[in-house]
Parts: sequence; C-alpha cells; structure tokens
Amino acid sequence: MTVSERTPFTATVLGLPRVGPRRELKRATESYWAGRIDAEQLHAIARDLRRTQLTELRAAGLDSIPVGTFSYYDQVLDTAVLLGALPERVAGIADPLDRYFAAARGTDTVEPLEMTKWFDTNYHYLVPEIGPETTFALHPDKLLAELSEAIELGVPARPVVIGPVTFLKLAKATGGAALDRLGELVPLYRELLRQLAAAGAAWVQIDEPVLVTDLTEDEIELVRSAYAELAEASEQPAILVATYFGTPGDALPALASTAVEGIALDFAAAPDLSAVVSLPSLADKLLVAGVVDGRNVWRTDLDRALTTLGTLLGSASSVAVSSSCSLLHVPYSLASETGLDERLRSWLAFGAEKVTEVRLLATALAQGTDAIAEELAAARAAAESRTTDPRLSDERVRARLGSLGPDATRRAPADERRALQAQRLELPALPTTTIGSYPQTSAIRLARAALRKGEIDQAEYVRRMRAEIADVVALQEKLGLDVLVHGEPERNDMVQYFAEQLDGFAATENGWVQSYGTRCVRPPILFGDVTRRAPMTVEWITYAQSLTDKPVKGMLTGPVTILAWSFVRDDQPLADSARQVALAIRDETVDLQAAGIRIIQVDEPALRELLPLRAADQPAYLDWSVGAFRLATSGVSDATQIHTHLCYSEFGEVIDAIAGLDADVTSIEAARSRMEVLDDLNAAGFSLGVGPGVYDIHSPRVPSVEEITTALRAALKAVPAERLWVNPDCGLKTRGPVEVEASLRNMVAAAKAVR
Ligand code: GLN
Ligand code: ZN
Repeated sequence: MTVSERTPFTATVLGLPRVGPRRELKRATESYWAGRIDAEQLHAIARDLRRTQLTELRAAGLDSIPVGTFSYYDQVLDTAVLLGALPERVAGIADPLDRYFAAARGTDTVEPLEMTKWFDTNYHYLVPEIGPETTFALHPDKLLAELSEAIELGVPARPVVIGPVTFLKLAKATGGAALDRLGELVPLYRELLRQLAAAGAAWVQIDEPVLVTDLTEDEIELVRSAYAELAEASEQPAILVATYFGTPGDALPALASTAVEGIALDFAAAPDLSAVVSLPSLADKLLVAGVVDGRNVWRTDLDRALTTLGTLLGSASSVAVSSSCSLLHVPYSLASETGLDERLRSWLAFGAEKVTEVRLLATALAQGTDAIAEELAAARAAAESRTTDPRLSDERVRARLGSLGPDATRRAPADERRALQAQRLELPALPTTTIGSYPQTSAIRLARAALRKGEIDQAEYVRRMRAEIADVVALQEKLGLDVLVHGEPERNDMVQYFAEQLDGFAATENGWVQSYGTRCVRPPILFGDVTRRAPMTVEWITYAQSLTDKPVKGMLTGPVTILAWSFVRDDQPLADSARQVALAIRDETVDLQAAGIRIIQVDEPALRELLPLRAADQPAYLDWSVGAFRLATSGVSDATQIHTHLCYSEFGEVIDAIAGLDADVTSIEAARSRMEVLDDLNAAGFSLGVGPGVYDIHSPRVPSVEEITTALRAALKAVPAERLWVNPDCGLKTRGPVEVEASLRNMVAAAKAVR
C-alpha cells in the first residue's frame, strides 16, 4: 500500500509521558504494590489518565496520536511481553500484572531484569533476556486494548511498538548474537500489523532508535531485509519507522529503499539536512520531521523550524511536523509552574507547549506563515529576550575562564602528590572510607519537609542536620574508619543540591520526568551563565571536621554529572557550560582547602552516561568532559587529595578517560563483577589510587568479614597495597542504619585482617 492510498497525517508527537501530570500513576502503582488498591483500581486510574491525555491531544489538533506508549513500568518490558520474551523465572507467576512487576522489580525469590540507560537519556529501561530457551510468541492484548480505547474516543490513533531490531540489539543475548533471532520476530510483527489493521489502525509506528548508533554493514542489511519483508504485505496499516536521538546515517538509504510508507527523523539532534534532501527514495514517503525537540525544555525557534520544513518539502511526498522523540523525556506542562520568572518561562516549552508548537508549524506548512503570524511574533520576542538577558552572559565568569592558562588544570605528577599526601594524612595501609552518604532516615526527610512547609525555620533545620552529622561522625569513629564523611543529610539530591545554590540554574515545582518505573526526577534547568553565590558545602564539612581528628572528605558533585542530570542550555556547546560549572566547583574546592579540609571527593557517576552514541563523536566528548573535571579539581594544592567516585564497573570506551581524570583516588563499583574491573584499569595503564567497592550496597544483605577479606585479597592481586583503598561500592543513603553499621564493622575488620 502506498501513501497515496492513505491519508498522510500532518501533526504528531512520537510518544507520550505516562506517570501523570501530578504523578498519579506513580502513586497508584505504589499503592498497588503496597496492597492498598487492587488491580482493577490501578487499571481504572491508568485508563482515566490515558483518556484525559488522548482527549487533550485531539483537542490540541494533532491528527495522528501515538497509542501504546503508555506503560505501567517500561516500554521495553512491554515489548518483551508483546513478544512473549519474559524470562523463565517469572513464568510461574500466574497473575499477568504481578508477573510483569516481578520481571521489573523482582520478588523475594525472583531476580528482576537488569536496568540500564535508554540511549543517552536519563530514562532507564529493563534489559530483555534472550537465550536458546526463549520462544517468541505474540501477545498483543495490551496494544489492541489501548487501540480500541482510543478509537472509541474518536482519536486518530497510531499504535506504537518498539521495532524488532532495536528490541534485539538492546537485549542481553546468550547462546548467539541477538540479531540472529530477527528472522523469528519478523513474522510476529507481520501478524501484529495484520491484527492492528483489522482493529482499525491506518498507521503503525515502529520505533528503531538503534538505527542512530553505529551499525555494521551486515546489520544494516538485516535492517533493510527485515523492513522490506514487513512492508511488503498489503492488508496492513502504513508503516512509519521512527528514528530518534541522532541520525540514522547509512541506515537511512537502506530503510528508504524499502516500501515502508513513512520515516521519522530527529532534526533536533541532527540538524544536518543534506543526507535527507539528496535521497531520491524518500520521494514517495511521508517524512515525519522531528523539528520540535522532544527531550529538552526550550521553546522552539519557529522560524528555523519552518526553514527546515521548507527544505524538506521537496524531498518527500509529504511532510508531517513532529516532536523529535517521545515526550516521555520532558515535564507535562508549564501550566503547573508558578515559580518561574516570566522571562525564563517565556523561553520554555514543556510537553503541552511542544504539542502546540507542532500544531502551529503544521498550520503554517499548510496555510502559510500568515496563519500563525501572532504566535510567530511571540516566539520571536521570547527568543529576542533570551539573547539579551544579562543572566545569559556573565562577563566575569567568561573573563575568568578566558584567562585560565594551560597550567590551570595541571597538578604535580601523581607520585609527587602521593608522597606529599601520605606525609600529611598519615593513613594506614588499605585505608577504609565510604562513598559519602549515610542512610537518609525518616528524621532527615521529615525535617526537610517541615522546612519546606515552614513548620521549622532554617536555624532549627541546621540544628537537626548537625545532629545527624554528629551521629554519623561518631559512628565512623566508633567503627574505626580512617577517612570520614559527613553523611550528606542536607542533600535532597546530589545534583539539585548544587543547582539550587548556583546562579544560572532554575528549579521547577512539578517538572517531573520518569527515570524508571515509578521513580521520577525533577531535573534543574540550566539557562544562564553559572556562578557560585557563596560557598555551598563548607559549613557542613567543617562542622564534621571539627568533631574529629581523622580527615573528613569534602563531598562535591562533578560538572559532567551536574549537566547530565539537568536540562541544559541549547545556545552554547555543552563543553562551555561544563567549564562554567567546573569553575564553580573549583572555587568550592579552594574554599574547602582553606577551611582545613585535606581530602575532597568530586563524584562523576554520570561520566559514561553522556558518552555520544556514535564512536566518531566520543573523543571530543571525552576531551571536554575530562577537561572539565580537571578544571574543577586542579585549583587545590598537591597536598590536598582528590577523590572521585564512578558508579559502575563496565567502563567500555570510557576506560582511558579514568586515568585522564588524574584523581588521586577513584572509587568504583566492583563487588558484583568480582574485581574484574581492576584488570581493565591495569590494561588501560591506570596507576593511581583505587577503591574497588568491596561489597554491594544495592541489597540489604550484610557481607561477612570473610567475604570482604576474599574480595580484598582478589583486589591485591591486581593492585599494589600502596594504591588500594577499602570502601563499599556506592553511597549508603538507600540503606538502613542497622545493616550499614554491621556491614561497615565487617569491612573494617576485613581491612585490618588483610593489613
Ligand atoms: N557521594 C554520593 C553518595 O554517596 C555518590 C552517589 C552516587 O554515586 N550516585 O551518595
Ligand atoms: Zn555510586
């Protein structure tokens, strides 16, 4: 079937958020888990949320609306269910909803699926497991039900599924490469298309974001032949293959050579049009142009978007306006924000505002720009006020950064530093420490809530936090740890805490975005040049240090992580923003040092997360991200010891960058991977201090002394004692106080035994 036999649509988005504008689904799901509501009640709340959302989108004028991007937990897990690919170990759970949640979160007896980042976003998906025992079978009930629900509402529904190539490439495969199974999936997708057509779908969207990553020629050929086969049947809906988060590169001509009726491209991530306009095979297709950025919060430059659309018009049979990706990655609506200043607000577009922009652009495309003259003028005025706002260009920060010479990021050679620090710190061999946070007890959370509601004043809040710090310091003294921390009780979140104290960042009230399952985050918005108003951590850390003679580590979040977990400026390179944040952190390290703090940890758990999807873009990223870390950490003297913490153990392409950070001590996760990461570090020539996590903090289990001793002995095979530190593999904030005390006691005992 060709497009001419269909009505090509004109205005759409690629997917929808689902937690609810007030996180209704989160609360309902958690109530269901706690047994406070039953499945019927949960389904009813979910159905209401979907109906309201669909009705609003139709009213907003979208003429094709995605359906099936709703999820109780994760769209990749939904796809595993759709394809009958849940692991064996949950098969025994009879109730489908409970089986689903067991795969997502585990039970007392069942391990959940692993979770990992969805491309380079802050969303996490569940990793499907595919092995020789996996037999695929189609279970389209959820999608068909959501489709008929939408059709009943009179909504122009477009079912969305994750495509077979992306599904397989994201899966963890045993017994052969996952893509070897593509031939088994294609018939299932054909059957699915047939059923969706029978249920009334005119278009189906098949998401293949994996096409924007590096694929081999063989893989691209597999993509081509799979879609050639999928598109060849006649009794089925028109197929829109959606790519996003980058450009499909060589996969684009391959895909375009098939008979699929539409292709969606992300022009926010990859504005270069040349590959598209020169592609003759697009001429009979619908091109869905993602000109409205689906994953950042800035108001669209309508003029620029119209130019892009105008250029594309000639290259495809028709052009529809769209968000660049699902709106899953941005908050619902600006309407629920009351605290943003008017100017900043006028520069922003959240989900609802992006839908309006899509509609406006589609109108302009159909009727000419006069039809949206007023809105164009408003958008131009907002853009103008953004370029002239003094907060966007702070001459002092820029001058300071401009005047930093190459020496500014250089410290003495590592062994010179090691000698100086050893003399000053007088630590035993195999020093013991923790990663920073101690349990965030309910007393801490209550105090924060009380402060927010005005029930206690700042002085009382500080008093309570100091009491927490004193407890944590006393506990560490009692346990005999060597390098202490203050425990981070005052931090709501390791990024938000800093963003709130830096000029150039704004916080939202309801800007929730799903991170995974029912977990939502409210990323700060970096809109202007960054300056530190005043020291951010010095009082807390020096208070902790005043309680003990042992060194207390200052605890900071690194520039890359602060950016990775925020919405960032789109009007300057990320590298420039990173240098500004780095300068603020650098000032903080200098102040900590001046206040007598001898060790400072700068956490960069997100270093790997921002790694570009394509290998060709990675060296430049590693260059500026490592540079930003070094800028942040090289303002102190060589006798001040710099630590960093990275939250994972599989470094892949980032491994060389870890040595480049030049931190005196790097703590990493290693417990689950049995110290293998140390061999990887050695192979990469790493020769600095390292603290491989000796036990896993992700579970409440208390590790035994023997177990930790074994881990330490294993570590000593790879790292000489002078360089080895002893610590858990991450912060302790999610753990309970009882297990933390027992675990650390065993950790200290093991370190002593091995010394
Ligand atoms: N210092 C932080 C903590 O201990 C580090 C958290 C992290 O690695 N994500 O909580
Ligand atoms: Zn961590």
